[in-house]
Amino acid sequence: MGTHADEQQRVVIVGAGFAGLWAAKALAGSALDVLIVDKRNYHTFLPLLYQVAAAELEPGQIAYPVRGVFRRQANVRFALAEVCGLDPLRRTLGTDGPDIPYDYLILALGSGTNYFGVEGAAEHSFGLKTLEEGIALRNHIMSCFEKASLTGDPAAQRALLTFVVVGAGPTGVEYSGALAELIHGPLSKDYPLLNLSQARVVLLEAASHILSPFPVELRRYGLGKLGRKGVEVRLGAQVLRVEADAVHLQDGDVLAARTVVWTAGVRGPDAAGKLGLAAGPGGRVPVDETLQCREHPGIFAVGDMAWFEGPGGGLPQLAPVAMQQGRAAAANIKRLHAGKPCKAFRYRDRGTMATIGRAAAVAVFGRNGQVRFTGFTAWAMWLFVHLMMLIGFRNRLAVFINWAWDYFFFERAVRLIIPQERKRGRGRSGAVGCPENRTEQ
Ligand SMILES: Cc1cc2nc3c(=O)[nH]c(=O)nc-3n(C[C@H](O)[C@H](O)[C@H](O)COP(=O)(O)OP(=O)(O)OC[C@H]3O[C@@H](n4cnc5c(N)ncnc54)[C@H](O)[C@@H]3O)c2cc1C
Repeated sequence: MGTHADEQQRVVIVGAGFAGLWAAKALAGSALDVLIVDKRNYHTFLPLLYQVAAAELEPGQIAYPVRGVFRRQANVRFALAEVCGLDPLRRTLGTDGPDIPYDYLILALGSGTNYFGVEGAAEHSFGLKTLEEGIALRNHIMSCFEKASLTGDPAAQRALLTFVVVGAGPTGVEYSGALAELIHGPLSKDYPLLNLSQARVVLLEAASHILSPFPVELRRYGLGKLGRKGVEVRLGAQVLRVEADAVHLQDGDVLAARTVVWTAGVRGPDAAGKLGLAAGPGGRVPVDETLQCREHPGIFAVGDMAWFEGPGGGLPQLAPVAMQQGRAAAANIKRLHAGKPCKAFRYRDRGTMATIGRAAAVAVFGRNGQVRFTGFTAWAMWLFVHLMMLIGFRNRLAVFINWAWDYFFFERAVRLIIPQERKRGRGRSGAVGCPENRTEQ
């Protein structure tokens, strides 16, 4: 982990997501000694994770090693460790390695998944929150097509080719659109003998509309576009139970499906409880106007994990909120270090975007969301903004080439199953394979 000069005060930042990384960038070059701690050695660009899961981008194209970001910053270092304890009196973090002392602390642990108590959801559905989950989902989808092409049982084949996405927020909409394009584009060429007209992408939403953060006309546009891409959207559909081979709905309907992707809910991070932090609304940690934890003044919490009460309730769990809060917490620590009082945080909403697939997106800007775009224009804006936000020139170039290739040739570059699916404890029946190395899938 290295040592830090005794005369320097140490800022420890836990989490190298958008909030943590932007806090560290704001402290780079300052008189403070900065240590970023993350359980992964890379930053993940989550807004493009669904494209990894849809075989469009390589995992490495949306991730960047933290040490590489701060290579030229002498006062910023990195430690690979999982934080699992906090002693505010001793100003020390407990980790899976040595304890880490701090003078100032910024917590930026991100979020967890909210399954809303739905039976079987955590065990039997795929998440889409980490790079590992994105890769696992891609492998599983590709494996489903391989298995479907081998089985002679029509019911098993239908279940293998039914992909249920739960939650029609931006992530659910983006993923179901991308999945439908993958199936009816590249995979229809890869599996000419498979009847892909029976392949279904079903998007379930408990509310009466999709894309909650967007105005009504953009939701309507999104719904129409999804329909034209072949996504079956079911509104007012409440999931009662998820099983290894089926999704049960509140209205009694049962969908036989070997794939359920859960994008329905976000809540505070699992680690917050271990750190003894009180959970507020949505399991997030309540912070005051300067971003310090209400129950632990002196400790800053930022990004998805923080509950910051704005005029219209809590701020959304979005990358720009996390980046702005990370920078604001860093600025407040610099002020404290200089003996000045902290400043209140104010979020500047610069707009929201979501893509539905090829040449289709929605974007809304302006104070009351009065500036709106759809279609190719919104899509081009979405591409540009996401490309610019990606970390690393090589990643930007690689992603740009991938997108251009996909756009002009209707191809997806990453249709590999690596690693081969192994037993995942999903309790699947009907496994095929050699008895000596049979895997349950
Ligand atoms: C699939 C998906 C798509 C999204 N799309 C968009 C989008 O299009 N636009 C948008 O604005 N927002 C989007 N978001 C939301 C956005 O990514 C988040 O708001 C943002 O990442 C929050 O930043 P953060 O720093 O708070 O958390 P994160 O970026 O999640 O970072 C948290 C970090 O903390 C680390 N960590 C967690 N626990 C520990 C621990 N105990 N010890 C050490 N390290 C730990 C993690 O490894 C991670 O690196 C999307 C999110 C997802 C999941």
